[in-house]
Amino acid sequence: MSRILHRQIRTTLPVAVGGKGVELFDSEGRSYIDASGGAAVSCLGHGHPDIVAALHAQADKLAYAHTSFFTTEPAEALADRLIEDAPEGMSHVYFVSGGSEAVEAALKMARQYFVEIGQPERRNIIARRQSYHGNTLGALATGGNEWRRTQFRPLLVETHHIDPCFAYRFQQKGESDADYAARAAQALEDKILELGPDSVMAFVAETVVGATAGAVPPVADYLKRVRAICDRYGILLILDEVMCGMGRTGTLHACEQDGVAPDLMTIAKGLGGGYQPIGAVLLGRRIFDAFANGSGFFQHGHTYLGHPMACAAGLAVQEVIRRDDLLANVRRMGAHLTRRLGERFGNHPHVGDIRGRGLFMAVELVEDRSTKATFDPKQKLHARIKREAMARGLMVYPMGGTIDGARGDHVLLAPPFIVDEPIVDAIVERLGDAVDAALAGIEL
Ligand code: PLP
Repeated sequence: MSRILHRQIRTTLPVAVGGKGVELFDSEGRSYIDASGGAAVSCLGHGHPDIVAALHAQADKLAYAHTSFFTTEPAEALADRLIEDAPEGMSHVYFVSGGSEAVEAALKMARQYFVEIGQPERRNIIARRQSYHGNTLGALATGGNEWRRTQFRPLLVETHHIDPCFAYRFQQKGESDADYAARAAQALEDKILELGPDSVMAFVAETVVGATAGAVPPVADYLKRVRAICDRYGILLILDEVMCGMGRTGTLHACEQDGVAPDLMTIAKGLGGGYQPIGAVLLGRRIFDAFANGSGFFQHGHTYLGHPMACAAGLAVQEVIRRDDLLANVRRMGAHLTRRLGERFGNHPHVGDIRGRGLFMAVELVEDRSTKATFDPKQKLHARIKREAMARGLMVYPMGGTIDGARGDHVLLAPPFIVDEPIVDAIVERLGDAVDAALAGIEL
């Protein structure tokens, strides 16, 4: 019996003992294609020899040095690399150990920025429904996923949520993309005016919504409009690219495709590809300058900031992605995956939408395609799909639908950037079988 408090207490999990390329192996000798990179983490797959070598080398040199005493070579080199490739205006990096920590740090940076520049009344955070920003208290308050928050609400800072830009669910019949982008962005301006512009500190959004709604890209121009609204009212734009960033959508940062640069950006997951826990906040020059010219420090910190092993892993992962031109493969294989999903599920009676960018794709399941009615969440279709997929040697990342029907059950795919066409074909074939087997067990 496991003595670990796992997320699912009543489920016995297989024991992962090894991994090579796109596959993971369990202690019973079964293999699984990792079509979700865990939770969009393993961008280089498993057991990559270059990353293993980099970790060995760093462990031989230096495993740990506290950041109040030292900086280190891998941390400096990774920061240089990240800023070299960052969206316009980003000048510095703050390292943490994961996505939630990155979001917490970004929120505190935003708050401290306004204190430093003499606008301490700015404290309101606006975020979006159907979003996920992490499980620590600040990040949980920011996320717009009610079931995660309900029991913890007394511990959460007040955050204000608007509707996401989610074409399949919220774009009206006959409404053009341009009109929908304007309407979805207007919700932000309305909320700012309702709260009082001088009270608002930041708008937080996932560039492409990840696990909560299932690889939902914004419609064209939505983020440009959001950027303009934030600028109009002096509000910071925080883009959370913990899941969709670091190459997953075919460009290093997803927001490059929207022609938008944020004031603060959170990254994690694919940054270290799972070889070490690492996340970061990229911050713009004016935020850095406010700290530098003001109190002279950022009032925050964790023991493992800029951990040399984590930074060495991140650096090695990013070097391999660049050296092997893997973003081009993400774009090529993303197009192939989109095609294959369309062939397999395009006419499926219970698939309402196939969406995403690059190797960040989702299939949304609905009871009725014409009305977009979701399955009863009590049926737990997503959990059935996960079980059926695992039984077929496939790891995917399914998520349940909502009671209010604002989102159906969906399956997220985020395979490693090293996939080729036969692997993508195998993923789609196994997923098709798993979805049909799961649906066969549901009363319609
Ligand atoms: N932000 C987004 C967009 C995420 O998808 C996640 C995790 O899935 C997080 C933040 C939290 O990251 P972590 O689980 O590393 O704390």
